[in-house]
Amino acid sequence: MKFKHIFIMLTLMMGVSYGGFYVKNIIFEKDINNQVKIPVCWKSDSMQYQKERKWIKDAITSSWQANSQIIFTEWNKCKGGSVSGPMEYISITLHNSKNSRAPRTYTSLFGNQILFDTATPSSMEIEITYNHKKLSSTSNPTLEFVNNHRQEYIKANAIHEFGHALGLLHEHIRKDTPNEYKNPQDTYSGAVESFQEKNLKIFGSWDINSVMNYSSPRFRKSQQDLSVGDLKVLHTLYGKKEDKLWLIKNYENYRYVFHRLSIPDATTIKIHVKGKTEKGYDFVSIFKPTGEVLYKGSGEIDKTFIINSSSVLASFESDYSVTKEGVTIAIEKIVDNPRSWTTGAYQNNTYLTKTLSIPSANTLEVKVQGETEEGYDFIKIYGSSFVVYGPYKTLSGKINETFTISGSQIRAELISDYSVTKKGVTISVKKRN
Ligand SMILES: [Zn+2]
Repeated sequence: MKFKHIFIMLTLMMGVSYGGFYVKNIIFEKDINNQVKIPVCWKSDSMQYQKERKWIKDAITSSWQANSQIIFTEWNKCKGGSVSGPMEYISITLHNSKNSRAPRTYTSLFGNQILFDTATPSSMEIEITYNHKKLSSTSNPTLEFVNNHRQEYIKANAIHEFGHALGLLHEHIRKDTPNEYKNPQDTYSGAVESFQEKNLKIFGSWDINSVMNYSSPRFRKSQQDLSVGDLKVLHTLYGKKEDKLWLIKNYENYRYVFHRLSIPDATTIKIHVKGKTEKGYDFVSIFKPTGEVLYKGSGEIDKTFIINSSSVLASFESDYSVTKEGVTIAIEKIVDNPRSWTTGAYQNNTYLTKTLSIPSANTLEVKVQGETEEGYDFIKIYGSSFVVYGPYKTLSGKINETFTISGSQIRAELISDYSVTKKGVTISVKKRN
């Protein structure tokens, strides 16, 4: 393994501490399958702007959605009246500034506030033409840039606005923004006015490359890829994407690639590596999330492992000559029908989840005992019979609760913030009938 590779490896293993800035109490809730479904609709009545709509949908699907448990659904014409609402959708108006005074791109409401809103004509406006009269060879962006890069520009704007819709605020208004990047028109105290300080969460370290940062050197160049910090905050709020399969087929020489496979709600997974590489030269490696090497091999491979984790990191490297048909790496969840879960003394910034079930039960008695940091570290219990927008119970502090939930399974989550931890909880289920 070359030195450069070791460096990349370490960076991936240890994680980079970049973060983001969001509003805590408006984050869309996960359902029992750990997914977050958010419907989107277009306000426009006509069949106009098909191409631009496809650009926007593609941009959102391949950024926020591709990297998390979020699924943006529908993408149809909005139902209901044209003045207010509709509720329960991110509703988008495409704005054509060609004949009006100024380009317009904004998000009117943030996070799940969107779902409960009845008064706002649309949740979001996205500019699709730009006011060519106002742009010149010296404006920023320039007329030439916009003409040449309209698609990228629309996509980048849409990704930024959807960041707001997911509850993210501007990275450049964080309190720790370096002075030279501060903007007097757009400040931390503005966010406090809108959301109250207790609801604001500054996460990780300031990230100049965030899609939510106007100061990003890439922002004016129509940034479409989420930054390290964007991904970190996305994973914290909305979970990582389930990714069960990695195909390395008919590979080339000089390949060096990584891939994380994960099943977020699994606690035990089976990993299967099968295929063929150049023996002794082209290697497949599997690492535990802690960084320990679980396997490294080449040639004819057909191996199975079981680990107590929801994810593994895999890497593949080929040398300068000879290639083979390649390998398939697949993971699957092992279901053990556990009836109790002890989190133990948990860590900061952690997210743990476990499904408990008794397949023959119609109603479960759930007992939660233990302690988390009051008001900051939470235990959430989701039932299986119905899910609207959230957990059946959210608990914190010294906990000693027993309650019943209909259905045969529950999913429990432990979510901790950046400081102070406690001994954790034990959650158990009993059949009630
Ligand atoms: Zn913005």
